[in-house]
Amino acid sequence: MLETEPLPVERIRADFPILKRRIRGRRLVYLDNAATTQKPRQVIEALVDYYSRYNSNIHRSVHTLGEEATAEYERARSKVAGFVHCSPAETVFTRGTTESINLVRFAWGERAIRRGDTMVATLMEHHSNLVPWQLLAAKKGAKLKLVGLEADGTLRLDEFEKLMGESPALFAVTQCSNVLGTVNDLPKLCAKARRAGATVVVDAAQSVPHMPVDVAQLGADFVAFSGHKMLGPTGIGVLYGRKQMLEEMDPFQGGGEMIREVFADHATWKEPPEKFEAGTVNIADTIGLGAAVDYLTALGMERVRRHEVYLVKYALHALAKIKDLKVYGPTRTDRRGGVLAFNVGDIHPHDLATLLDMEGIAIRSGQHCAQPLMRWLDVTATSRASFYVYNTLDDVDALVEGIQRARGIFKL
Ligand code: PMP
Repeated sequence: MLETEPLPVERIRADFPILKRRIRGRRLVYLDNAATTQKPRQVIEALVDYYSRYNSNIHRSVHTLGEEATAEYERARSKVAGFVHCSPAETVFTRGTTESINLVRFAWGERAIRRGDTMVATLMEHHSNLVPWQLLAAKKGAKLKLVGLEADGTLRLDEFEKLMGESPALFAVTQCSNVLGTVNDLPKLCAKARRAGATVVVDAAQSVPHMPVDVAQLGADFVAFSGHKMLGPTGIGVLYGRKQMLEEMDPFQGGGEMIREVFADHATWKEPPEKFEAGTVNIADTIGLGAAVDYLTALGMERVRRHEVYLVKYALHALAKIKDLKVYGPTRTDRRGGVLAFNVGDIHPHDLATLLDMEGIAIRSGQHCAQPLMRWLDVTATSRASFYVYNTLDDVDALVEGIQRARGIFKL
C-alpha cells in the first residue's frame, strides 16, 4: 500500500506556469529535473521585481537603488547559507557547480598540488568533478586515481580505503550520482579522507536540491551546487568553502570589487566571500536563487526527500514489470536519489526520448556527462527520468505507458 503523497503537489503545480504548457496537444510530463528544474512564479517574480523596481549595481553606489540591490543580494547569501547550515562568509556565489569546482582547482589546487601527489576521485563523477582534476594533474605532474564501483553502483569501499592509504592530497566525490542515483555515505567518506590528509571537494549538484544537506555534518572542505537544479535561475551557483581554506586560498579572478587596495604593481584582497566574486556579479539570479531557497524551505527538505523516495519506489516497482528494461544503480531507495537511468532492450535512448517527446514526456537521453561511467556500464548511452517536487504518480504512469508503446513500435 502506498503512503499518502508527502507534498501538496496540486498546490505546488499551480505555482509553475510552464506546467500548463501543452506539447503537441498533450500535457507536459517533465522528467528531466536532473538536467534543470522548472521555476515557480515566486522565482520568476523575484527576477521581474529586481529588474523593474531596484535594478542597480551592488557594493558600490550609495543611492537608494544601489542600497536595496546590495541588501537583497546579501539577504540571498544569508538564505543560501542557512539552507546548507554554514555562515554567509563561507558562501561564495559562482555561475554553477562547474565554476565552483574550477574555482577550487585554480584558487586552491594551483598552490596545493605538487609533482608526484596523488589525487582521488570516483568512477561515478560528472565530468565537472573529474576533468578539472585531470587538467590539474597533467599540469602539475600529479596522479589522478578513481575509486571503482560495485555491481550495484555503490562505491568500492575496499578501493577507497586502499587509495586513502596513499595519503592523497585531494578527494573529489559526488554526494549523489546524476546517473546511478547512488547517494554516497559522505560523513564517513569525508572523515576518512580528511584523516588521510586529503582536501575534500563534494559535488552536491544532485543532493542539495533534493535532501537536507548540512555542510558541517558532511565534513567536507568544499561543497559545490547549482541554482538552476533547485528551482532557481541558470547562471548562479554556490561554493561552500571551510572558512580557513577560503582565507588561505589565492583569489580566483582579479578585478573590481574583490580587492582591498590596489597599487601600481600589486594589490591586496577583501575577505572571503568577496575575494572570490570579482567584477559585477549575477545580481538578479542570486536574488532569484534566494526566492527558490525560500520556496524549498517552506516545503521542507525532509518532505522533498520523502516525496522523491515515494515516486522512485513506485517507479522502480512499475519499471520492473517491463520486459527487457534495466535500471542502473542501487535498488534500495534509502541509498538512491530521484534519478532513474535505464535502457529498454536495444532501443537507442535517443529514439526512446524522441518517441516519448511526441507524447509530451520529457526525459534525458545520452551520456549524462559521465563517459567513464558509461564505459564501465558498457553502454553508449542511457535514458534517464528524474523527479522533483511537482511530479506525481500520474507522471510515472505516463512514462511507463510511453515506454510500453515504444516497445510496441520497436516490436520488442
Ligand atoms: N555535477 C552533477 C552531479 C550534475 O548532475 C551536474 C549537472 N548535470 C553538474 C555537476 C554540473 O552542473 P552545472 O552544469 O550546473 O555546472
